[in-house]
Amino acid sequence: NTQTTYELVGKMEMLPLYRPREKFSNKGTYGHALIIGGSFGKIGSITLASRSALSAGAGLVTSYVPKCGYQILQTSFPEAMVITDKEEEIISNIQFDIEPSVIAFGVGVGTAHKTIDAFESFLKTNKTPLVIDADGLNILSKKKSLLKLLPKQTILTPHPKELERLIGTWKDDFDKLEKTKALSKKHDLIIVIKGANTITIYQDKGYVNTTGNPGLATAGTGDVLTGVITGLAAQGYEPIVATLFGIYLHGKAADIAVEDLGYQSLIASHVIEALGEAYIDLF
Ligand code: AMP
Ligand code: MG
Repeated sequence: NTQTTYELVGKMEMLPLYRPREKFSNKGTYGHALIIGGSFGKIGSITLASRSALSAGAGLVTSYVPKCGYQILQTSFPEAMVITDKEEEIISNIQFDIEPSVIAFGVGVGTAHKTIDAFESFLKTNKTPLVIDADGLNILSKKKSLLKLLPKQTILTPHPKELERLIGTWKDDFDKLEKTKALSKKHDLIIVIKGANTITIYQDKGYVNTTGNPGLATAGTGDVLTGVITGLAAQGYEPIVATLFGIYLHGKAADIAVEDLGYQSLIASHVIEALGEAYIDLF
């Protein structure tokens, strides 16, 4: 077993990777993100993720939701296109005729049997790069045989509980990192261990993020991170760069937002609103 080497990720590491918007470009230049998720009572999560993908710079965003999400999304986020499942309250059959550049699966999606089956059938034919979060991760934990169907360099973004369901309990931090690395290597996955010092594991490397603050310990901020990473991947950043840059921008946006709002009052929507300033800091 090879040793893991760790790198800190801050502004100096991100600057050379950041690609400015081009003058002679159009929305097609910046890719199309498809965000699949939501269930009755959890349409907010996919709304946040979809807004975040567009605010991170994707050219187009389509949200795939159960029927109950249709009006909510079209009203609260008019910039998104919406595709609905045939079921009212959950996703039961993933089918679409668009060609997205990247797909995010899992926010608010639930873990109903029909949803698991729909995800499995989707994985059997899918070739598009994937980001998996939240209940998408819980589905992988419930049915581990799905892991081998994931495309190479699929991005997983677990918080500590979701990680525990994926890799089991750990004795200490070192053990946690080694178990994460083993899963990453087995299936060629990029695994983001979310928390106060988010660490991304890929191959023999660990990347420690340096932005963010406890204001992020609030509902929906993980959905925002999923959207940001997906929006970057849509623009053609390669998966590991989209992941590290997304975590950096998300944390930086939160750092900017707390200056005006304080730690207690920050909510996930504020992080989306501050993404612009996080970008401007790189100009
Ligand atoms: P989730 O639990 O899926 O909503 O994700 C929470 C998001 O907020 C992740 O991006 C975490 O890294 C971030 N976060 C949560 N707590 C903290 C904290 N104390 N300091 C910095 N970031 C945090
Ligand atoms: Mg989450």
